[in-house]
Amino acid sequence: MATVPGCFVVTPSDLSALFGILDELGYRTLGPTVRDGAIVIGEISGISDLPIGITDEQGPGRYRLRDGVAGAWFGFAVGPQSARAHLSPPERPLLEIRSRGPTLEFVEPEHHTERTALFGIRPCDLAAMEVQDRVLARGPHPDPRYVAARDTTLVVVVNCGVPADTCFCPSTRTGPRARSGFDLSVTEVVDQTDHYFVLEPGSEAGVEIVERLEHRPADRAEVNAALATTEAAVEAISRSLPEQLNGRLLAAADHSRWDEVAARCLSCGNCTMVCPTCFCSDVRDTTDLAGDTATRVQVWDSCFTLGHSHLHGGSVRADTRSRYRQWLTHKLDTWWDQFGQSGCVGCGRCITWCPPGIDLTVEAAAIVGGG
Ligand code: SF4
Ligand code: SF4
Repeated sequence: MATVPGCFVVTPSDLSALFGILDELGYRTLGPTVRDGAIVIGEISGISDLPIGITDEQGPGRYRLRDGVAGAWFGFAVGPQSARAHLSPPERPLLEIRSRGPTLEFVEPEHHTERTALFGIRPCDLAAMEVQDRVLARGPHPDPRYVAARDTTLVVVVNCGVPADTCFCPSTRTGPRARSGFDLSVTEVVDQTDHYFVLEPGSEAGVEIVERLEHRPADRAEVNAALATTEAAVEAISRSLPEQLNGRLLAAADHSRWDEVAARCLSCGNCTMVCPTCFCSDVRDTTDLAGDTATRVQVWDSCFTLGHSHLHGGSVRADTRSRYRQWLTHKLDTWWDQFGQSGCVGCGRCITWCPPGIDLTVEAAAIVGGG
């Protein structure tokens, strides 16, 4: 059968050599691993670190791990963390000021330069990286720490075959198959008789990695099987976000639904902490007990905290209604005016990790009249 240019087949045992190859190329590898009952992003040195044969059950306010397809490397959807935790960590030192007798010494920490391979991130998270790039790397005020981390990050994206109940990436056009922006794309094909991976390099680094792996050109049937995997994922996804929300949520600022959702919302900020596109931060200064050293750190902040909108005299958004409205309206509506795209990539994390199970697709539909 004819082979498909740019597509290659690798067996599981051959793909397990990838981690050694990345190490030889000078990358530390971060990827999916199980910790504390969830699939999180951690250091990966071999396939034994991956959640092989494990799947996740997700729903509004619910996340559980259980046994999945035996031997499957990627039989799960997204966990609570995304590339954001690597590119803009929750806490980053910005400055240390040391007292040196009559003078002060100002020390800025070096920007991240360690080469890192993000292995197994999902297409929605790749899309979220592009959203954050626009804000933090290509905006009028680039964040040099983010840029340094981004420039040294290699992306191995894994197309999705097993979406969660909370996913809705087809309606945001961010998955379940990645189209661009990766160094290497991987689709796992696993059934009763076959288990292999279809690889597509997206950069010179990706080509080099494939060349170092044992591989062969993929034939049309193998590529079709890979495409069928992501098409099955599309069929399995039932949630969707209403189209063209730009201007529509803001126009409904007085809708009674904001009161209804505020009655359920705890203002805990979980939705913003797990969202791969959120970028709000605060700056905190502390001194050591001796008073010799002052440290300035940047920490993730949330539009659900009272302090986030604090101006002279108090908070602009003093109640949960206004804070939830700010979150949803910015994410789905005014983000378009600011950045020319939506702030949502359909990963569903804010639904899964919301304690009362508030679903932004339901809220948005209700507010713009679709549900
Ligand atoms: S708003 Fe929710 S579904 Fe959309 S990207 Fe953020 S966490 Fe994911
Ligand atoms: S919507 Fe849910 S996760 Fe977000 S602040 Fe309210 S209760 Fe917390």
